[in-house]
Amino acid sequence: MTYPATWYAQTRTDRAERPALQGAHDTDTVIVGGGIAGLTTALELAREGVAVTVLESESIGFGASGRNGGIVSPAFACGGEAIEARVGAEAARALHRLTIEGVQRLRANIDTLGIAEAAPVNGLLNLRRFDAVADLHDYARAYEQDYGYRFTYLDRAAISERLDTRRYIHGLEDAQAFHIHPLNYLRALAREVERLGGRIFEATPAIGADLGAQKVIRTPQGRVTARRAVFATGGYTGPLIPRLKRAILPIATYMMLTEPAPELLARTIRTPAAILDDRRASDYYRLVEGGSRLLWGGRITTRAASAEGVARELRAAMLAVYPQLAPLKTELAWSGLMAYARHLMPQLGRLQPDVWHITAFGGHGLNTTAITGKILAEAMLGQSDRIRMFEPWGLNWAGGPIGLAVAQLTYWGLQAQDWWRERKVG
Ligand SMILES: Cc1cc2nc3c(=O)[nH]c(=O)nc-3n(C[C@H](O)[C@H](O)[C@H](O)COP(=O)(O)OP(=O)(O)OC[C@H]3O[C@@H](n4cnc5c(N)ncnc54)[C@H](O)[C@@H]3O)c2cc1C
Repeated sequence: MTYPATWYAQTRTDRAERPALQGAHDTDTVIVGGGIAGLTTALELAREGVAVTVLESESIGFGASGRNGGIVSPAFACGGEAIEARVGAEAARALHRLTIEGVQRLRANIDTLGIAEAAPVNGLLNLRRFDAVADLHDYARAYEQDYGYRFTYLDRAAISERLDTRRYIHGLEDAQAFHIHPLNYLRALAREVERLGGRIFEATPAIGADLGAQKVIRTPQGRVTARRAVFATGGYTGPLIPRLKRAILPIATYMMLTEPAPELLARTIRTPAAILDDRRASDYYRLVEGGSRLLWGGRITTRAASAEGVARELRAAMLAVYPQLAPLKTELAWSGLMAYARHLMPQLGRLQPDVWHITAFGGHGLNTTAITGKILAEAMLGQSDRIRMFEPWGLNWAGGPIGLAVAQLTYWGLQAQDWWRERKVG
C-alpha cells in the first residue's frame, strides 16, 4: 500500500491494510470512496443496521481526508452572504446551524468511540491583519444571538500574549472549534464501520457502474451487487459518473511541516489553539507533536505544483508572520485535492433512484461531512427530508478547464485584495 509522504501517514497509529475485492460480493449499499464523506455515510448507515460495503481506490484517507489541516470549525466553504442571497436569511441560518451540529457530531464521535489518537485540541484563533473591527464585533454579536455560540474578541495585546508577531491586529477566539489528527480519526471510523458489520476494500477502484434496478459496481478483480449506491469520490472523482465529474473542480492545496524545534516554537506560538487568518486567501497553522513542530497550510492552485515550489511558498508565508522561524527547516510538504462546485456548496442528493452522491466540501470538509453523512443516511432510510435544504445547489456544470482558469484567477484576485487591505500595516 502506498501513502503520500504526509505527516499524518507517518504518525498514524492504525497501520492495518485491507485486501482488494476479489470476486462477487453482495451488499445492501455500496459506497465508492473511502474518505471522510464516504466513511461517515457508511458509519451512519451501519449504525442503523444497513449492510454497507466501501470501495477505496488506494487506501482509507488517501485523498483530502488524510492530508488536511485538521481544523474542525463551523461554516461551509461557501460564505454566509452567498448562501443567504440564494435561499434567504432563515434558511441560511438553518444551514449554518447544521455546520455547528457537524462540529458537535464529530466531537461526539471522538468521545463515544474513544478515538484518543485523533488527539483533539480545543481552540481556533481567527485573526485579521488589517485595522477594521466593527464588523468583527457585529459578527460575534449576531452569531451569539442566532446560534448561542460565543466568540471572544482579541485585541492586539491579547494576540501578542499568545503569538510573538505584530502581524495580526484583531481576532476572534472560538473555544468550541478544535483540531485533530484527521487520518487517525478516519481510520477509527473505518474500524467502527467494520465492527458494525460493514466491509471495506482498499486498492479497489470502481471502474464500471451499471445503475439499473440492481446496482453493480465493477472493480479490477471483482464486482459488488447492491440495492443502493453512494458516490463519495471528492476531488479524486474520475469519469465513472460523468455528471458528477462535470460538476466538480479539483483544486489543489498544500501543507508543510517544520523540523522539531520545541523551544523556538514555544517562544513564538504560545497557544495550543489552531490559527487561521481571515484573509481571503488564508493561511492556517497549528503546533503538533506536543508543540515540537509547526504544521502550516495554505495556497491553492488548479494545476499540480512541485513540492519544492510549494514548500518555498508556504515557508515564505510563515516567515512573513514569524521571521524568527527562519532557522527552521521544512521537513515535509504535500498537496491534496479538494472538490469544489461552482456554487461552493456541498453537492448532496440523489442522482437517480437509489443512487446518491455526497461531495464538493471544498476546504471545509470535516464538520460538513460529519453532518451531511448523517443527513444523507436519513434521506436514504426515509427518516428525514433535511437533504432538501441542499436542493438549491445542484450538480451544475463546473465549467471544466474554463472553470479551473476562473478559479485560479479568482484566487489571485483574492491575494491581491489581501495585499491591498494589509499594505499599511507594519
Ligand atoms: C491540504 C488540505 C487542507 C485542508 N484543511 C482542512 C481543514 O483544516 N478543515 C476542514 O474542515 N477541511 C479541510 N480540507 C478539506 C477536507 O479535507 C475535504 O473537504 C474532505 O476531506 C473531503 O472528503 P471527501 O471524502 O469528500 O474526499 P476525499 O477525502 O478526497 O476522499 C475521496 C476518496 O475517493 C477515492 N476514490 C476516487 N475515485 C474512486 C473510485 N473510482 N473508486 C474507489 N475510490 C475512489 C479516493 O481515492 C479518495 O480516497 C483540507 C483539504 C486539503 C487538501
